[in-house]
Amino acid sequence: MSQILTIALTKGRILEETLPLLAAAGIVPAEDIDKSRKLVFETNRPDVQLLVLRGADVPTYVQFGAADMGVSGKDTLMENGAEGLYEPLDLNIARCKLMTAAIAGAPVRQGRIKVATKYVNIAKQYYATCGRQIDVIKLYGAMELAPIMNLADEIVDIVDTGNTLRANGLESREFIADISSRLIVNKASMKMKHVQIEAIIDAIAQAIGAEHSVTSA
Ligand code: AMP
Repeated sequence: MSQILTIALTKGRILEETLPLLAAAGIVPAEDIDKSRKLVFETNRPDVQLLVLRGADVPTYVQFGAADMGVSGKDTLMENGAEGLYEPLDLNIARCKLMTAAIAGAPVRQGRIKVATKYVNIAKQYYATCGRQIDVIKLYGAMELAPIMNLADEIVDIVDTGNTLRANGLESREFIADISSRLIVNKASMKMKHVQIEAIIDAIAQAIGAEHSVTSA
């Protein structure tokens, strides 16, 4: 009998793009996730259960082995680090860019600037690479408001269409990274539940037309 395999998913918009990939691997939730307040879902497979979490918590569950696998945005992995994880597949969903942004038309400020973001580590690293000195202001949402209200000179945020920036009188400035959702796997689980996990990775890779390789750390 196979062991229970736990897969951590991000709730909301990304979930809608994730479920078809799981279905391609023969995994379908036993009930409609959107219509339930549950956090743990059984599936059509008795050996697979799903957790539906906030995106920022998915790598934590997988890192500590509370979930064997997960789907996480590259932004979250970059911000939190990916220790204890394999990242075997770029799922090519929820694609966007991590950018700096400022008030449209405002001159680039010289010297030490204030940067508001929820991506504190990414911002520190990026501006340090550019040789720019910053004070980081940690926010949990609505980063666009910070330059308007003079809380910060620039922000670091996710940009997709750019509509949110434009609607708030901001413009994107510098590109930091391309972002998409990644399949992540706990390193110990990869050894202990190799057959189950490898079959799922293969099926999803085939569904998205990707090659994959798992490198041992
Ligand atoms: P947009 O107005 O299309 O540029 O979208 C920008 C906002 O949507 C950002 O502030 C994010 O909060 C959110 N967003 C867009 N795409 C993603 C994504 N792939 N992952 C997470 N958040 C996203």
